[in-house]
Amino acid sequence: MDTYKMWIGGAYCDAESGKTYGVTNPATGEEIARAPLGDRSDVDKAVDAATRAFPEWSGKSQQERSATVHRIAALLKERVEEFARLDALDHGTPVSTAYHMVGGAVANLDFNSQGARTIMSDVIPIRPDALHFFHREPVGVCALIIPWNVPLTMVGSKLGAALSLGNTCVVKPPSIDSLTTLKFAEILDQVGLPPGAVNIVTGPGGTVGTALAAHPGVDLISFTGSSETGKDIMAKASGTVKRLVLELGGKNPFIILDDADIDLAAQKAMTSQLRNSGQICASPGRYYVSEKRHDEFVAKLIQAMNTFRVGDPLDPKTNMGPMVSEEHRDKVEYYIRCGVEEGAKLVLGGMRPTEPPFDKGFYVMPTIFTGVTQNMKIAREEIFGPVACVLTYKSEDEVIGLANDNVYGLCASVWTRDTVKATGFAKKLRAGTIYINDHLTIGPEMPWGGFRQSGVGKENSVVGLEEYTQLKLIALELTR
Ligand code: NAD
Repeated sequence: MDTYKMWIGGAYCDAESGKTYGVTNPATGEEIARAPLGDRSDVDKAVDAATRAFPEWSGKSQQERSATVHRIAALLKERVEEFARLDALDHGTPVSTAYHMVGGAVANLDFNSQGARTIMSDVIPIRPDALHFFHREPVGVCALIIPWNVPLTMVGSKLGAALSLGNTCVVKPPSIDSLTTLKFAEILDQVGLPPGAVNIVTGPGGTVGTALAAHPGVDLISFTGSSETGKDIMAKASGTVKRLVLELGGKNPFIILDDADIDLAAQKAMTSQLRNSGQICASPGRYYVSEKRHDEFVAKLIQAMNTFRVGDPLDPKTNMGPMVSEEHRDKVEYYIRCGVEEGAKLVLGGMRPTEPPFDKGFYVMPTIFTGVTQNMKIAREEIFGPVACVLTYKSEDEVIGLANDNVYGLCASVWTRDTVKATGFAKKLRAGTIYINDHLTIGPEMPWGGFRQSGVGKENSVVGLEEYTQLKLIALELTR
């Protein structure tokens, strides 16, 4: 069994304590590797290394930094299959999906390496005898705290932006699903970065993540994960007034109007809800279907979900694997029980597969609830699983109110053939991304980030790159 190492100061290392933790394959429940159990002392070592590397790395030209990150993208591209297979083993996502996720990491690194070359400064016309201008500088040491649902894609997005722009980084992968990030050190090792420009520290969020959030040597925290953890990080980071980029949870409405193309909506609902076993922040959490189209939509969604093949993540024909962990499987099942107890009608799934060998893994079958009402737990809280919750509405004004009635505001979608009406909806919905006749599309060029408790700041696009810079004003007096 492989024992992985952390990457600190340009060297592979064990945790200072020498401790490790077991990594489980969620499709079988078996331990497949061990990873270092880092703690505060490893964080101190990594932040110190990143601080020492900052002058050299931030002092390089933008062209040189961009070329290095571009090379990281190219080297990862050569190894997409190897990383996808590892992700399938560690995370349980089917190889076909994992392939796209590692491809997403390549795309994010590539986009950020080039986007960093387009960051502009500007002149402020105050007086003819003075020159006031501002430019952008790196922020310093960035802690990049990664969720388990799409870890390497997130590393590509956060590290691509932070590193290209001259920051140095401490990457903290999730304890479950840390292997692809640890393996990624093999690529970092090949590109001639100053030692300590990137460091990777593994261990629990409660120790490693907390130590990063409070560390006086960390200047910026870029975090993707749950809103509850985001709030905790905000509180801990306030002691040293750190810059924060927070990409948090969602309970995303999928709104079907009277004139929607129901075949298209049902097909997209199925893939958006089940891809990565529903463990995607942008997955639709609640479906608002016009009363007139409800039965038709539900019948088509059941039909579509029945075609999604649940099985072994390593089988290229599998569409959906297990949940990432036993603990998360239990959380999804808790919500299914809540739905039943609160009176929603289970019309598909709701159970584990009983056939060997899948009875040993952490699987939950595709599930649909109808008869869901606005105040049920399953309509309000993020389930993060393959569970579709279908509600109905009577009027378009009513559905806008229902969709906005939630603490989250990550994304929403509207399904209609009337694009003028859809644009009116888009303006009234309180969320960071509004899809029209689509759901779940995310790419490096698209600024991504939620309203309200779904986050602070944006990721991706040039707007996302700017989060990893700070503006400096320089005032030059021309008369002296
Ligand atoms: P999580 O909050 O449990 O963990 C995320 C990361 O934070 C992990 O690396 C974890 O170890 C670390 N962490 C945990 N507790 C910490 C603490 N107290 N201080 C610092 N770090 C800590 O989230 P998760 O379960 O890994 O991911 C699922 C959540 O992420 C969902 O809510 C999902 O919506 C959200 N998510 C959001 C986006 C987005 O772009 N908005 C993208 C992906 C996932």
